[in-house]
Amino acid sequence: VFQLSVPLNFLGSVYRELRQSLLDMETLFNLQKVNVSIKEKADAKPLVLSRGGEIKFENVNFGYYEDRPILRNLSLTIPAGKKVAVVGPSGCGKSTLLRLLFRSYDAQSGRILIDDQDIRDVTLMSLRKSIGVVPQDTPLFNDTVELNIRYGDLDAPADKVFAAARQAQIHDKIESWPHGYQTKVGERGLMISGGEKQRLAVSRLILKDPPLLFFDEATSALDTHTEQALMSNINEILRRAESKRTSVFVAHRLRTIYDADLIIVLREGSVVEQGTHKELLENGGLYSQLWTAQERWGEDQEGATEASSGS
Ligand code: ATP
Repeated sequence: VFQLSVPLNFLGSVYRELRQSLLDMETLFNLQKVNVSIKEKADAKPLVLSRGGEIKFENVNFGYYEDRPILRNLSLTIPAGKKVAVVGPSGCGKSTLLRLLFRSYDAQSGRILIDDQDIRDVTLMSLRKSIGVVPQDTPLFNDTVELNIRYGDLDAPADKVFAAARQAQIHDKIESWPHGYQTKVGERGLMISGGEKQRLAVSRLILKDPPLLFFDEATSALDTHTEQALMSNINEILRRAESKRTSVFVAHRLRTIYDADLIIVLREGSVVEQGTHKELLENGGLYSQLWTAQERWGEDQEGATEASSGS
């Protein structure tokens, strides 16, 4: 019995590891186009978050094509345990930053450090395990809702899955679906809205509970009200977390991140300014221009809605 159970247990854990890596691969695919040339060093060590997860980009240059640089000599520090937002005009390289950190690609020059360890010196598994991403478009598996959340932690008992869904404000919705948590999603399953998908992704993330959290804000998936509700929930989760998490929000709508500890503003792959919302408004630079433009646009939208509902 002993002889038999050892290899079976072993297989069980290997199987779990494999599924977990597949999941991390899914996230990776979602961060777009995996570069298969990314290799782990023979002497790679597991990432150790000895300082709470400080992320540093040092003079990073990167382009998807050699003649088209996207990140230009980019240097920035994301302090450990803080809520940081990365903003800037469309196409300035915000999502690219995430892809480099996840090692979907390697920088052409410069270094990326997490707690002083070059990410090229650590194992890919430990790196990707430490990072949780709510991507712009969440991959859902052709499986039950419960399993789709459980992918965050394959060993989680059902009550933890439900608790995570509650925190992500999707539990009641799931209960209203024909087969509750056993409802199938995916190709032939239930149609799920972008906002619901994102909340399933947040549930998955709560279950995975990684020390570094990234939210790649989807512009189209959520309406403003749902987005605000979800953001205040995420803030609440971050506030309640036992140990402080480093969280990075790649944001389009400045209203969702104006309370961040630090806002980093990118233009054409470089940092043009950084500070708190208040400091950046006082600077009168790119951030304050973007803010003013979005506020005006917001008022126009509200005006338009009132006008149309009034007629
Ligand atoms: P947005 O705010 O619109 O999401 P962003 O700031 O996140 O944009 P990135 O997605 O990082 O910008 O893209 C930066 C630039 O790199 C863009 O010009 C984009 O077209 C280009 N790009 C992004 N992904 C790839 C890719 N896989 N291959 C080639 N070019 C890419």
